[in-house]
Amino acid sequence: YAAKTRNDGAVVYDAAMDKSSDKSLSLLTELRNAIERNEFRLFVQPKIMLDTGQVVGMESLVRWVHPERGNVFPDEFIPFAEQTGFIRLLTRWVMEKSAELCQQLAAQGHHLKVSVNLSTRDLLDQDLPVKFADLLARYRLSPGSFCLEITESAIMDDPVRAQTTLERLSNMGVDLSIDDFGTGYSSLAYLKRLPVNELKIDKSFVLNMENDEGDTKIVRSTIDLGHNMGLRVVAEGIESEAVWRLLAELGCDQGQGYFMSRPIPGDQLVAWLEKWRAPIAVAAQPAVTAG
Ligand code: C2E
Ligand code: MG
Ligand code: MG
Ligand code: MG
Repeated sequence: YAAKTRNDGAVVYDAAMDKSSDKSLSLLTELRNAIERNEFRLFVQPKIMLDTGQVVGMESLVRWVHPERGNVFPDEFIPFAEQTGFIRLLTRWVMEKSAELCQQLAAQGHHLKVSVNLSTRDLLDQDLPVKFADLLARYRLSPGSFCLEITESAIMDDPVRAQTTLERLSNMGVDLSIDDFGTGYSSLAYLKRLPVNELKIDKSFVLNMENDEGDTKIVRSTIDLGHNMGLRVVAEGIESEAVWRLLAELGCDQGQGYFMSRPIPGDQLVAWLEKWRAPIAVAAQPAVTAG
C-alpha cells in the first residue's frame, strides 16, 4: 500500500509510490474519518476461570460500524491498518475506551482485568510505554488492570525491538500475553526470554477438541508447557460445555468463547455480568478423559 507512517505515527499518502491504488487511499481516508465520526465500537468478551466460573477479565475487540457497509469485522481492516500505520491511532483509541470501561466497571464493583490486542507496529512504537503510563494516570488505574496481547508473529517481525518494548511495559507492571499461541513461528528459546505472564491457546485447536485427539494432545501439551514456564494458560474459542469441562480437567486456567458469551458492546457488560451464572460444579465434576 502506498502509505507511509511519519515519526509521530500519523499516516501520509505517498502518491509517488503508487498512483493507481485509489481503493487503498479511500479505505485509509475512511479509517481516519471513522475515529472522528465515532464509527468504531468497543466490544468485549468475558474471560472466565474454568474451575469456578468466575469472570476475571475481558478482552477488548474493536468493531467498525460503517455507514454503508454496516458492521465491519477486524479481520477486514486490521491487516490494512497495520500496513498503513493507522493501527497506532486505533490502538490508542481502543486503549482509551478500555481504560474508561475498566474504571466504570470498578466503580460498580466489578474489578476486571482488561486485555488489549497489540500489533507489530505498536511494538515498534517507542512512545507506547509513556502513553500507556499517561493513560493509567488519567484513569487512576493500576498497571495490573491491563493485559496486553501480542501474537508470536508480531514479536518475530523484529524480536529485538519487540523485546525492548515488552520489557519496558512489563517493568511497569502490566501483564503480557502471547495470543494465538501455536500458530506462529516463534521459537521456545526466544519465548523463554520474554517477560510474559500468559499463553493463549489459539481457537483452531480448541473449537473441536472434544472430537479430535490430535487437538486434545496439542492443548494438553501447551497447558503443561505454559505451567512449566510459570504462565497462566487461557483457551479461546470455547463453544460448548463439553470443551469447557475437558479444558478444566486438563488444568487450563481461563477461557473465552461463544459458549459463555460472544463479544458484546462494552456498555452491555454490566448487565451481562449481573445475569451470568456459571454452569454448576465445573470443578467437582471432571469430564471423561480424552486424547
Ligand atoms: P484474537 O485477539 O485472537 O481474538 C479472538 C477472536 O476469536 C475474536 O474475533 C473473537 O470474536 C473470536 N472468538 C471468541 N470466542 C470464539 C468462539 O467461541 N468461537 C469462534 N469461532 N470465535 C470466537 P474478532 O473479534 O473478529 O477479532 C479477530 C482478530 O482481530 C483478533 O483475534 C485480533 O487479532 C484482531 N483484533 C480485534 N480487535 C483488535 C484491536 O483492537 N487491535 C488489534 N491490533 N487487533 C484486534
Ligand atoms: Mg486477542
Ligand atoms: Mg487469539
Ligand atoms: Mg486469533
